[in-house]
Amino acid sequence: MATARPGRVLIAEHELRARIGELGQQIARDYDRDNPVVVGVLQGAFLFMSDLIRAAPIDLTTDFIGVSSYGVGTKSSGHVRLVSDLSMAIEGRHVLLVEDIVDTGLTLAYLKRNLEARHPKSLRVCVLADKIERREIEVGVDYVGFTIPNVYVVGYGFDLGGLYRNLPYVAALEPG
Ligand code: IMP
Repeated sequence: MATARPGRVLIAEHELRARIGELGQQIARDYDRDNPVVVGVLQGAFLFMSDLIRAAPIDLTTDFIGVSSYGVGTKSSGHVRLVSDLSMAIEGRHVLLVEDIVDTGLTLAYLKRNLEARHPKSLRVCVLADKIERREIEVGVDYVGFTIPNVYVVGYGFDLGGLYRNLPYVAALEPG
């Protein structure tokens, strides 16, 4: 049986490194001495976040939140579910939410609502990739790594049914 596989490279390793370096510098300038809590969205954002915080030479704290919106395929279920919560209170803290991708925007809108309800001092969002054409709900994003076309991507944190997160580049999924 033919299966979908990683195909054409959309974002090469050196492009990831260069752009994430720029984002890290920008975030370091914007937050300076604010000691933000950088919140990564599991699982997709963990690689991006680990490179991003190493590119931001400021004091910061990290935490993670886990949500699930996809089943095992390439279509969002549209239902966002919290599967693991933050380990710390964020009230009064500057929070930077780090997400892998904004597609329809439903996941990010849910996360922003959820975190705003905890009364952080500020909340900004950084995403590695933005599939702007697919937006179903308007959601503000403060830092965008790459705007990408409407294709399903795998690698560098992006998965298909749990596979391919460990590729060091972002590739388009090639139908099998
Ligand atoms: P949204 O709620 O439709 O914006 O989808 C956001 C979530 O869907 C992301 O956090 C990803 O986990 C997942 N997702 C969307 N597009 C892709 C893709 O092309 N590859 C892998 N995961 C994706």
